[in-house]
Amino acid sequence: MNILLTGGAGFIGSHLCDFLIAKGNKVICLDNLITGKIENVSHLTDNPNFRFVKHDVTTHIDIEEPVDFVLHFASPASPVDYIKYPIQTLKVGSLGTHNALGVAKAKNAKFLLASTSEIYGDPLVHPQREDYYGNVNAVGPRGVYDESKRFAEAITMAYHKVHRLDTKIARIFNTYGPRMRESDGRAIPNFIAQASANEPLTVYGNGTQTRSFCYIDDMIEGLYRLMMSDVNEPINLGNPAEVTILYLAEEIISLTGSKSRIGFEPLPEDDPKVRCPDITRAKKVLKWEPRIQLKEGLNLTLRGKKRG
Ligand code: UDP
Repeated sequence: MNILLTGGAGFIGSHLCDFLIAKGNKVICLDNLITGKIENVSHLTDNPNFRFVKHDVTTHIDIEEPVDFVLHFASPASPVDYIKYPIQTLKVGSLGTHNALGVAKAKNAKFLLASTSEIYGDPLVHPQREDYYGNVNAVGPRGVYDESKRFAEAITMAYHKVHRLDTKIARIFNTYGPRMRESDGRAIPNFIAQASANEPLTVYGNGTQTRSFCYIDDMIEGLYRLMMSDVNEPINLGNPAEVTILYLAEEIISLTGSKSRIGFEPLPEDDPKVRCPDITRAKKVLKWEPRIQLKEGLNLTLRGKKRG
């Protein structure tokens, strides 16, 4: 297949590039590099099946060759990033998704949207099933991301219904692994960097808030199965093993053998108190569930970092 991948120099995008090229596909990777890094794909630039184009997908996307699949992964995705780039985040979820869908329509290609567990907001239903509508504060700090992804889902479904495009929507829950930027501000890269430097681990609030962390290789497999499926409804992809943030911090101190202690800091506004995917649908229709447990995934992430 010829695959157009927006956000291909980001964390998940760059792992997708590797996976899809290893499967014999051609990948055109678009990224404006505001949060993606060219280093994430620099090992691919000599590969004849890979092409990198520095482009902001909120402006018109011009592709000459045929495209079989459009994967729309471009967006700031960590709270620190989307709070720093609120308007770019809103534009890439709205205008960027519209442009990416436009390419899919013009090329008669299939389309997959990288959506997010954030569309459930600070959830009042737990664990989150796909039929839960969510609890989002449109004007809070996370609203820029949550609402742009909610709009992205809505326009994707509209293209499916109106233009009969074969579209897929992946609701991606917290994912981690090598290539996350140390400075992206999320819990796992922050804690690993702090533990490695023997500095206090910055646990926000009292650390009783929960998240469910999926290792990148499991996520890529789930995304690929969704690509290859005939599912058009949104589908949760994530690891349902839920932990508190305090547990995560203590686990990282223990795995790194660090002398760090925990330093509690204020909880950011609208920080979801719980998050855990119900993956019944993914198990049933994709025959997929994560295999890599948190401890193993953290060890792989630590080794990935050392290998650079
Ligand atoms: N968190 C934390 N310390 C950090 C970074 C994050 O305690 O240095 C908390 C954050 O408040 C949230 C959880 O860890 O409750 C996960 O945050 P992250 O930024 O990784 O992603 P989110 O799931 O909130 O989008």
